[in-house]
Amino acid sequence: MDTKNNEAAAPKQARDRVLALLKELDHHSRQYHVLDSPEISDFEYDHLFRELVDLESAYPELQTADSPTQRVGGEPAATFTKVRHRTPMLSLNNAFSSDEVREFGTRAERAIGAVGGYVCELKIDGLAMSISYAGGSYIRAATRGNGVEGEDVTANVRTIRSVPRTLERVVGLPDELEVRGEVYLPKGAFAATNARLDEAGKPGYANPRSAAAGAVRQLDPSITAARGLQTFMYAIDPPGKIKNQAEVLDTLAALGFRVNPHRQLAGSIDDVLAFLDHWSERRHDLDYDTDGIVIKVASLAEQAELGTISRAPRWAIAYKFPPEEHETQVLDIHVQVGRTGAVTPVAILEPTLVAGSTVRRCTLHNEDEVARKDVRIGDTVLIHKAGDVIPEIVQVILEKRPNGATPWQMPEHCPACDSLLVREQGEVVRRCLNPLCPAQRRELLIHFAARGAMNIEGLGPAVIDQLIDLGYVTEPADLFRLTAEQLLTLEGFAERSATKLIESIASRRRVPLARFINALAIRHVGEHTAETLAAHFGSIDALAAATEEDLLGAEGIGAVVAAHMAAWFSSSEGRAVLEHLRAAGVDPERAAGGGGPWSGQTWVITGSLDGMSRADAEARIRALGGNPSSSVSRKTHTVVAGASPGSKLEKAQRLDVRVLDEAQFVAELDAAEGSR
Ligand code: NAD
Repeated sequence: MDTKNNEAAAPKQARDRVLALLKELDHHSRQYHVLDSPEISDFEYDHLFRELVDLESAYPELQTADSPTQRVGGEPAATFTKVRHRTPMLSLNNAFSSDEVREFGTRAERAIGAVGGYVCELKIDGLAMSISYAGGSYIRAATRGNGVEGEDVTANVRTIRSVPRTLERVVGLPDELEVRGEVYLPKGAFAATNARLDEAGKPGYANPRSAAAGAVRQLDPSITAARGLQTFMYAIDPPGKIKNQAEVLDTLAALGFRVNPHRQLAGSIDDVLAFLDHWSERRHDLDYDTDGIVIKVASLAEQAELGTISRAPRWAIAYKFPPEEHETQVLDIHVQVGRTGAVTPVAILEPTLVAGSTVRRCTLHNEDEVARKDVRIGDTVLIHKAGDVIPEIVQVILEKRPNGATPWQMPEHCPACDSLLVREQGEVVRRCLNPLCPAQRRELLIHFAARGAMNIEGLGPAVIDQLIDLGYVTEPADLFRLTAEQLLTLEGFAERSATKLIESIASRRRVPLARFINALAIRHVGEHTAETLAAHFGSIDALAAATEEDLLGAEGIGAVVAAHMAAWFSSSEGRAVLEHLRAAGVDPERAAGGGGPWSGQTWVITGSLDGMSRADAEARIRALGGNPSSSVSRKTHTVVAGASPGSKLEKAQRLDVRVLDEAQFVAELDAAEGSR
């Protein structure tokens, strides 16, 4: 820092604050841009950033070349190849009020005389992407990175359906061009991504933006493809003969890109402000997150005249919507025992209206999260909804903390059954491991009856609570033995409603296999995984007989899920649940594609087959309802030994498993296929 020529040297206080801000902003920028895991809200970040801008303009000698006010984004992650952008991908200056938007207009007019007009676009909260084409063909995609260099994500972006592989011809554009815009995750896909991560026991993303960045940065493009990313493009570089931003957007649409329909050409700043007002109200209706409106000087010639300073153009500004954050009070912190024994702290809040609905409670995830945010009973907190969906505590307002509020402690014992809670190594969650824990049983029964599972109409938490209290029900099978007389002793039940519930329970003795698997509430197995398992195994018997290796053979089933499944089906509790349900007459339907004469049988092929490929052989086994597997166990039905069989043949002989040669196998296949 050079202070030589400065008469009014910055006071120590300002100097210290700048150093502290640099450190803090640097940390959060890395969390956000490189790790996709922000710890504070954008609103908080923007305010720290603004504080630094203000200090640097009051004391210019405090500004350093590597200050975040002078650079864009974060460094590209080391895992991807770096790509240098043809022209830098800039950031945008922010405006937080209509006055600041007016000032932007005034500054532009002062610099170039009259401004011909502005184009207003929604600011999509995703991540900026540059996509290159040559001769109309897709050749490369890169993230913004630090603005100069980004990450090469060509293979991943190719999987996004709205990114054209070849462009429609448009006259007047150069042969090689870069198209820029935003890659984002719609709200529904965000919720689905988090639900799947939750099933797999992995932490979810904080918001749709982080989830989109995570999806783009997968090392396996098929994972990116499955996440459901979307795009809106807004720039062409170089723009050829195009004269203004409205034409840029129209040309992008003509080339075949997805362009946001909510845009407006505004003649004056007053028109701009009307557009801001409209979208401040309406933005929650969209199926994607917008964090503001980008206002651009429309004419490209005027844009060139205005130019760029350091990290952002002078011809555009991002108006940021005030966050939908509300103050409320933490009345209590409860711990909730989930159906898999996971114990979650939940803040009970003074009811408050946020983004269209009343929030009464919100999860605090785990004890580390409570400690990090230091949420205490009695605290006044700011809450918002992540991605407009999930209520969350943003921060505690420390100035309003009541005297004597003490740090919150996670109980050591289960609040429902008093057994010692266990935090396994590498896990953030504490669990109650007692399979007879009444809280777990309650959650399990609620889950069993719920819509995505057995879908028993009329059997909600209030009825289940009474059934448990009266001792009528302790496990799922008991539901199928309930009588109308018992139901009549429950509050709110009369003859008709009791008969109706009994009928509705009875009707669920036969449900699709995937529902039944989901209903069992096995850790990490939710609706999606249950469907995969049902399609792969076809029947509950085949699934129950599957070894960990067999489970790993089902598409998308990883080691953690396979281990939990296998442990559940071989545990005495798991087996009892299944047997009791079977005894109560519950018989799930076979999955489509499952069933067949070999249903429930596990077949292993070892060595090479002459007459067919292994893939074909496995497909034919599967078509007959059988379950092809790669490892031999006592539960294996048959081993097919082809030419030069491996150790699997020895193992089969050792375990006394039936062995067929290729000719016998083909004969059995033909016979079974003929019998269908
Ligand atoms: P920015 O988000 O303020 O604006 C620039 C970006 O807007 C562009 O790169 C582009 O990706 C995007 N954009 C969306 N729609 C657009 C449109 N129609 N036209 C043009 N651009 C459009 O700036 P930034 O440099 O990307 O990031 C800084 C922002 O990131 C901060 O304002 C802050 O909110 C957030 N941030 C948050 C944290 C945190 O910890 N929460 C940390 C660092 C940064």
